[in-house]
Amino acid sequence: MNLIIGSHVSYKNNSQLLGSVKEALNYKANTFMFYTGAPQNTNRGVIEDSLTLEAYKLMKENNIDLEKIIVHAPYIVNLANFNNFDFSVSFLINEVERCSTLGVKYLVLHPGSAVNCSREEAINNISKGLNLILDNEYDVTILLETMAGKGNEIGRSFEELKSIIDKVKFKDKIGVCIDTCHLNDAGYDMSNFDSVLDLFDKIIGIEKIKCIHINDSKNNIDSHKDRHENIGFGTIGFDNLINIIYNKRLESVPKILETPYVTKDDNSKEREYPPYKYEIEMIRNKIFDKNLIKNIRENS
Ligand code: FE
Ligand code: FE
Ligand code: ZN
Repeated sequence: MNLIIGSHVSYKNNSQLLGSVKEALNYKANTFMFYTGAPQNTNRGVIEDSLTLEAYKLMKENNIDLEKIIVHAPYIVNLANFNNFDFSVSFLINEVERCSTLGVKYLVLHPGSAVNCSREEAINNISKGLNLILDNEYDVTILLETMAGKGNEIGRSFEELKSIIDKVKFKDKIGVCIDTCHLNDAGYDMSNFDSVLDLFDKIIGIEKIKCIHINDSKNNIDSHKDRHENIGFGTIGFDNLINIIYNKRLESVPKILETPYVTKDDNSKEREYPPYKYEIEMIRNKIFDKNLIKNIRENS
């Protein structure tokens, strides 16, 4: 099977897309996802076309398909909240334009959180915002991410995503990004992935899935927590994740790791080493390495 796998990578203002491609190649990935700046703020720099063109050249040489590259919107934008609404809409209008300038087709967005409003109002606000953002000439699709349901997060069920999508006018510019940790924490059984996909297909339509975040979870099914764990070290487990990654129905969908960086030692809190090169290798081999963390520490 043709595996399209990568991870979250950094995007720095001095190297931009070229730097992101180089980082992905270090991990032996053939796709990647990035934030166009810091994920926790909305300061964004100017895109330099010369760096973008150099990035394209390097991608071509290494068979990385631009059509599968993903941008993730910063998580502080919130279309659900009245107070934040205008700012979030204008930021996302610019973000879609940035994606288009970079040639990126997919922008992953957390639907939002119902702060100071009902879930129903939140859903209305989100679709209203999406209709303002997607009314453009760009070939960029927004992917609503399935959420763990932490706090007042919207998007904790397929039905909830469907109710947003139903109210969006630009149906061909809206899709879904499923996240294995979030689905587990939201109560979906990841050991029975084909029935989860059947359910998704019935409610939304499987063709809407354009990206999958591959993460193990630190918490049990239905915990509504959202804490990612390294592949094979959490409650979903290696075999279930391999079944999801190699599911034939999602062969053309890029798989993106968002697993935590590894700490220097067990007592350290600071996350230092990216695990992606090692996790991708383990996924390609389909053999779980219980010494993965130790190996990463020794080789980093
Ligand atoms: Fe996300
Ligand atoms: Fe995710
Ligand atoms: Zn998450």
